[in-house]
Amino acid sequence: MKLLEERIKKDGIVLPGNVLKVDSFLNHQIDPELSKAMGEEFARLFGDAGIDRVLTVEASGIAIGVMTALTLHVPLVFARKKKSALINEPVYTHRVFSYTKKEYADILVLQKFLPAGENVLIIDDFLANGEAALGLAKLVEEAGSKVAGIGIAIEKAFQPGHQRLLDKGYHLEALASIASLEGGTIRFTAED
Ligand code: 5GP
Repeated sequence: MKLLEERIKKDGIVLPGNVLKVDSFLNHQIDPELSKAMGEEFARLFGDAGIDRVLTVEASGIAIGVMTALTLHVPLVFARKKKSALINEPVYTHRVFSYTKKEYADILVLQKFLPAGENVLIIDDFLANGEAALGLAKLVEEAGSKVAGIGIAIEKAFQPGHQRLLDKGYHLEALASIASLEGGTIRFTAED
């Protein structure tokens, strides 16, 4: 997606450890117009899949997730990373390792917000090792639903997550696909 690539080129900052910082439009400050365009693009890419629900994980997936869900006219549910005192109903949960925080978190969703027998579209901001996306997919499958697709705003295609998701047979779409961050230079893959 040209608009996203251009924004990454303009505002993205490469940090040590192959981390791309995009806090001026995706991870802290949010650009609503760009989020809307990303949501519409996800809705176009997965529009034929009969999506019943969008699932993401807090916090950075929520803006793009809600724009996708709005365009598809379906609900958005986000997995929480911390159990709150208000959660006293049955949950689906899975332990995932955070790429940026370097620690485990138990992501969870109330079972009533992931009914069985649905086509669920997973949306997230980044794909690195695939931990977050695979953890969300586990929740969907445990609920007795189908992962209809995985939409990622920015994938780092040189890291293992891309291949791990394809190996599991998931339909993966990334709006921006980064081939390398070597030397602090952002290079996109040739496909788009
Ligand atoms: P994975 O679970 O695929 O290893 O990593 C994806 C998750 O880690 C995303 O939800 C995102 O929060 C975070 N992440 C991974 N790589 C990056 C990165 O380069 N930049 C930012 N801002 N977040 C990242």
